[in-house]
Amino acid sequence: MSVERALELAGAVSIPMATEEVSLDEAHGRVLADPLCALADDPRFDNSAMDGWAVRASDCAGEGVRLRVVGTGQAGGAAAPDVCSGEAARVMTGAAIPEGADAIVMVEDSEVDGDEVLITGPARPHYIRIRGENLEEGEEGLPAGVELTPPRLALAGTMGHATVPVIVPPKVAVISTGDELVPPGEPLGEHDLWESNTHALAGLCHRLGCQPVRFPLVIDELDALRAALTRAAEECDVIITSGGVSMGDWDLVRRLMETEGDVRFWRVHIRPGGPPLFGLWNGTPLFGLPGNPVSAYVVFLMLVAPWLALNLGHHPEDGPKLADRVRVRLLDEVKGAPGKLALKRIHITTEGDELVARVRTHQGSGNLASLVAGNGLTLLPAGSDGEPGDIIDALWLR
Ligand code: AMP
Ligand code: MG
Repeated sequence: MSVERALELAGAVSIPMATEEVSLDEAHGRVLADPLCALADDPRFDNSAMDGWAVRASDCAGEGVRLRVVGTGQAGGAAAPDVCSGEAARVMTGAAIPEGADAIVMVEDSEVDGDEVLITGPARPHYIRIRGENLEEGEEGLPAGVELTPPRLALAGTMGHATVPVIVPPKVAVISTGDELVPPGEPLGEHDLWESNTHALAGLCHRLGCQPVRFPLVIDELDALRAALTRAAEECDVIITSGGVSMGDWDLVRRLMETEGDVRFWRVHIRPGGPPLFGLWNGTPLFGLPGNPVSAYVVFLMLVAPWLALNLGHHPEDGPKLADRVRVRLLDEVKGAPGKLALKRIHITTEGDELVARVRTHQGSGNLASLVAGNGLTLLPAGSDGEPGDIIDALWLR
């Protein structure tokens, strides 16, 4: 089936989300659970955007104006004395605007002469920051579902919040299956390989605001697999497996899910990554990803990430993101796939005012280096090849 249909079927299954209140110190990278409003006007009072002089603009129209200095206002201190015609008050950045003043002259445009100041530059009304011009009390500054990036955390602080409501990261079990897999660092048997998928998948989960739980590797044996899935369903909110969903005799994730689980779909029209499976194991949603490292990665991007984003309530533009959809001009030929959306690894750069994409490596679905050498994936529609010069849809990976 198509990616869209698969997402529709997966979307019918959801997991409950919990929220918690955390301090700003702990909130970096978290997903905001509720909209956040300003607890006071920002700014709270009219104040100076410059170090300079609070004046009446009408006094400063001519050349060589001299004004009587009436006092000083500092940020956080009392406002300077009222300013009448012919007068100026010294103000620092952030100081309240004294009564009577309606413009600021920058300190650079002035010369102090005893108890007078000679004005040598313009008096500007817009150097006064007006109460509430950024946000008014009660106004929404941050919608729900955004990732709390540094500027958003700072805005939460500016709005007066010491703590923020965030999504409790759901626990995602990440389980690799395969007799040939050995943890990196351990010796390999003759036909073994070092396991990699759990590290990529756990990292992706983490970046979307989940808590990945990397399980011990599972051999291709039904009882071992059943026990691992059952433990995962008890301890976690979602299960992601890798390996064992294709047509081979040892593809036991598929076999177990078909006989004892609840399969909602199997196989999606994408390449690489054709045989993913989705269903429930003991009531817990399970994504069965293919074992080939590139396949597992792209299936996560295409199916698991959108489903998690939906469940975590990510903001469509400002939630955590793994990729941006862009248009790129191909510089190299890219072979498509009959009947399947082709997700080929490309390297995207800017050239003039457009994005261009090159193919840097061979496209084997076991070639993890192709994912590292690239920073994007083509979204070539089924049955179409990409020729140099073609402008196509692509995912620009973050
Ligand atoms: P499978 O989907 O189980 O048939 O595996 C397909 C290919 O991916 C095989 O060549 C596996 O050795 C490889 N593979 C499976 N799981 C992993 C993993 N966790 N890390 C790295 N390679 C894997
Ligand atoms: Mg396998």
